Amino acid sequence: MQPFEYNANPGRVVFGSGSIQKLPDEVKRLHKSKPLLLSTPQQAAQVKALEPILENASIKPAGLFSEATMHTPTHITDKALQYTKDCGADCVISFGGGSTIGLGKAISIRTGLDHICIPTTYAGSEMTPILGETADGKKQTRSDPKILPGTVIYDVDFTMTLPASMSATSGVNAIAHAVEALYARNTNPIMTLLALEGTKALAAALPLIVANPADASARARAQYGAWLCAMCLGTVGMALHHKLCHTLGGSFNLPHAETHTIVLPHALAYNAPRIPEAMKQLADVLPGSDGDAIKGLNVLLTKLGVKRGLKEFGMKEGDVDRATEIAVGNPYWNPREIEEAPLRETIRRCWAGEDAR
Ligand code: NAD
Repeated sequence: MQPFEYNANPGRVVFGSGSIQKLPDEVKRLHKSKPLLLSTPQQAAQVKALEPILENASIKPAGLFSEATMHTPTHITDKALQYTKDCGADCVISFGGGSTIGLGKAISIRTGLDHICIPTTYAGSEMTPILGETADGKKQTRSDPKILPGTVIYDVDFTMTLPASMSATSGVNAIAHAVEALYARNTNPIMTLLALEGTKALAAALPLIVANPADASARARAQYGAWLCAMCLGTVGMALHHKLCHTLGGSFNLPHAETHTIVLPHALAYNAPRIPEAMKQLADVLPGSDGDAIKGLNVLLTKLGVKRGLKEFGMKEGDVDRATEIAVGNPYWNPREIEEAPLRETIRRCWAGEDAR
């Protein structure tokens, strides 16, 4: 066994259908009484359901800010900060996916306010000390233990409304965290266990959700898998796949979860020659892999009926060269050296929607 170091991220998790009823206790546990609720405009009606739950326990929300948006732009954060101050909030509750949780993190790190997350996608931001913010069209990412939310309530009931197609891509986004944890430079046996169990749970649950979005037990299994994968993302370093998705998303305005879904088999194929053990472990938890992890992923993506080419999201063929240039010009650790020609071919395949190999 390889030597390793392991840092467990602190943080409290409350999991289960109906666990939202424990929200007032979680606020009181922090000795707070005036939470600010956060959501996107699309989830403004859904987040309102939290108000009576809090009020029944004599907690009056200080306010509701429903302008969270993709990539956590700092002008929205500034507006939210002013509102936080004006309404006298003493903690923040983010209700939604990575966009809303990003806003919660941005407020919490600037004000020191406690942050309770109620995730409604599988993206995993709630388990990480990472914050990506956009200012003047540039996305910058930082990591700080203080960014990690202190309390996370996983209530499967709020994931039931996540449309089937978003559930599929968000779930594959979660699997991507686990895949890269298997070969992370600073991985450890705990992460391997979480990564394999998380992948197994999602690979089993996602096709059931796509077939029937109202399947509550598949939803619960997917959320459990997403939690485990999120812990991988929050604990060990990511490599080519995440860096490439970051480059593509940021430079060509491509959607987050859909980009992860398209890139994953290709990034894995690029790294495959250097990560035989991870490939074997992954193949073992992907149904229909026949011992080949790439095949297993392809089988899963086919079952999920997801889009496979970045060109379907508006990326131009001419962007392939620029994407390669950015990806090569921004060095980071990866199990296989970043070589321009094979990487260009990887990006071209992602663009075209060809099979990974
Ligand atoms: P998102 O938060 O942008 O949500 C996408 C849309 O789905 C939004 O309109 C949202 O309101 C809606 N939605 C969310 N849950 C829903 C539900 N249950 N029912 C109906 N609609 C719902 O998407 P995301 O993929 O969760 O997050 C992507 C963002 O999060 C990106 O900006 C990404 O960079 C960031 N992210 C950050 C980290 C981190 O560790 N810092 C990790 C993962 C993602």
